[in-house]
Amino acid sequence: MKLNTNLTTICGWLACASAALAADNVFHGPSFYGDAPDAHHAWAIHDANRPQPLIVTPGTPSTQEQAGKPPSDAIVLFDGTDLSKWEADAKGSVPTKWVIKDGAMECVPGSGYIRTKETLGDCQLHVEWAAPVHVQGDSQGRGNSGVFLMGLVEVQVLDNYNNPTYADGLAGSVYGQHAAMANALRPPGQFQSYDIIFRRPLYAADGHLLEQGYVTVIENGVVVQDHALIEGETGHQARTKEIRFPDAGPLKFQDHGNPVRYRNVWYRHLPRRANDGGDDGYLTTEATLAKRAEIAAHIRQDAAGMTSPGQALAQTLRYAESLVYTADEATAKMVEARLLKYLAEVEALPADKIGAKKDEVKHVRDVCRYLAKWKIVPADYAPKAKVDQAVKDHNWDKR
Ligand code: MG
Repeated sequence: MKLNTNLTTICGWLACASAALAADNVFHGPSFYGDAPDAHHAWAIHDANRPQPLIVTPGTPSTQEQAGKPPSDAIVLFDGTDLSKWEADAKGSVPTKWVIKDGAMECVPGSGYIRTKETLGDCQLHVEWAAPVHVQGDSQGRGNSGVFLMGLVEVQVLDNYNNPTYADGLAGSVYGQHAAMANALRPPGQFQSYDIIFRRPLYAADGHLLEQGYVTVIENGVVVQDHALIEGETGHQARTKEIRFPDAGPLKFQDHGNPVRYRNVWYRHLPRRANDGGDDGYLTTEATLAKRAEIAAHIRQDAAGMTSPGQALAQTLRYAESLVYTADEATAKMVEARLLKYLAEVEALPADKIGAKKDEVKHVRDVCRYLAKWKIVPADYAPKAKVDQAVKDHNWDKR
């Protein structure tokens, strides 16, 4: 109950402090709240300044009869109508011989792989595929195709419905590397879905491996690869060899001699990882300090715009907030002078008016305590001593 009351008070303050930022998809939460930024985290815990994620309208699920709708930010590679984003996997730009039938693209055996004209790196990829309804062959010879991430790593496509084969070549396997963790296939002729989360290997400027690549695969809603290490380029019969991955490559579907069909192919970009130029998450000290300086500059810019009557204290506290991210002598001096002035003005109020300042002053005390706790101001910070005294003098902790 006490916590809720405090939170409501603080939130009320922040709503005021952040009024200049009022816009859709902005969280008006508390400041001076969770643990402060440190050498590897640019944001405080529960930081109201941390950007809200992109708003995505979810898609709709597919049925056997009809493909679902992709999420709003998906890049559609194949919607069942045309192959304008695809070409033959050949030298130069050569039209594919794969054909469209009933809203699906179909492999024409012997025509070669099909690939996207655009290149993809890290992504969330959605693919639906169907093995031929007419069952022919067994093991690797039945409804074989493959989803080649960046054209290099094959997530196996194979009709393994009542058709065993070697585990590292089963549908949903990372071919020759990782066995599928389950066989969740529907009968041939029916569409199967793969939802794939792909993170490519990352390299430092000198070429050494900075971060391994990983792939997660969900087959018809069942996890078949869980953050599986990408060891290199997919091969056959041979141990996978490590290679240097480029930043992006075309998505390819395999021609393995079977008329496998694909539909509803789309992908979404994923946020960059810290090792890939991303600025969220666990960062190097250098990147953290750069990001903290950027956040502080943004907050100071926001504070500068808080010029409406009655916003003086809120503006001061917003400037104080910027110091949580990066020290700045001029801002620190200005904040200290303004807080002292504010407290002197409160003390100068007539006795019948001062009581109305209770919550405001207590909030200023909380801010001073936070700043001192995280050594953003010294322990003997003058406004802190003054505000502590004011709360004590007026007995505001008890009444
Ligand atoms: Mg294959």
